[in-house]
Amino acid sequence: MTDNIHTILRQMPKAELHIHIEGSLEPELIFALAERNRVELKYASVEELRRAYAFTDLQSFLDIYYAGASVLLTEQDFYDMTRAYLQRAHADKVRHAEIFFDPQTHTERGVEFATCINGIHRALEDAKAQWDMSGALIMCFLRHLSEEEAFATLELALPYRDKFIGIGLDSSERGHPPEKFARVFAQCRELGFHLVAHAGEEGPPAYISTALDVLHVERIDHGVRCLDDAALTQRLAREKIALTVCPLSNIKLRVFDCMPEHNFAKLLDAGVTLTVNSDDPAYFGGYINDNFLALFDALSLTQEHARQLARNSFAAAFIDTAAKQKYLDEVDAFFDGDQAGR
Ligand SMILES: [Zn+2]
Repeated sequence: MTDNIHTILRQMPKAELHIHIEGSLEPELIFALAERNRVELKYASVEELRRAYAFTDLQSFLDIYYAGASVLLTEQDFYDMTRAYLQRAHADKVRHAEIFFDPQTHTERGVEFATCINGIHRALEDAKAQWDMSGALIMCFLRHLSEEEAFATLELALPYRDKFIGIGLDSSERGHPPEKFARVFAQCRELGFHLVAHAGEEGPPAYISTALDVLHVERIDHGVRCLDDAALTQRLAREKIALTVCPLSNIKLRVFDCMPEHNFAKLLDAGVTLTVNSDDPAYFGGYINDNFLALFDALSLTQEHARQLARNSFAAAFIDTAAKQKYLDEVDAFFDGDQAGR
């Protein structure tokens, strides 16, 4: 792969649509926050914590993810975490970010919902003011918990509904099908929130179908297992339902053995609308541009693919038509002009 395509991937304007803010906590920040808040960590050093990042599957990752989140206590902690992600995203030419947060991870530890959302939201406002980078929050329910607990979280969240635009579903997929949350998603839909769900990452294609038909989601997070079901793949392509794919995450969590085995190119060939995202970048070995580079190197994708993926990221975003057009124009200007320095 030439340096040219690397430069294009690094410099092109893009949106990130699948990033868990708690998954952007780097070991250095975890240690700094632990010290600030006098939280005892079971790791002696940053290096030891980094070494513990050798997960074998989704569950072993989630165990360390929740341990890392335990250092977040004050509004400033949530601000600092979000600010650190936004700085990296800005450097990667992310113009718009839709960020997941997991309030249940924090409210279960006694942290107020307000502490969490106010800190994250303030960082988004600062990014808008400083870099003209837009952002929005999607509140996720943890699917290993009950639907009753999701309802209780929604109740806590509603006084802050001007600070988030959508609802998602994340955490351990297997054994927790989307339909477990049918009633709470129905209520969120009535309330006018955008809806997404993780489906078809480790779970079967049937979870993608029920996310669409029972939860009425507008995008599928991951969704790469759809290829096991030809009719479903055709439906996704026909209905232009975007998948938010996270290549490095898929390798780290062994959804595929290695990047050349990733089915991304096959999904593109099948006409499915794809986007590239980082998922939990601190834990999975890279931010959004690292994901683009690893994917393009392994699958020999082209400049035309890069342009399409940049366009898809904005087309699939939950932004109004004018904002969408503004960003699509930025993509076109980039590829039609000389901005990549080529
Ligand atoms: Zn995810």
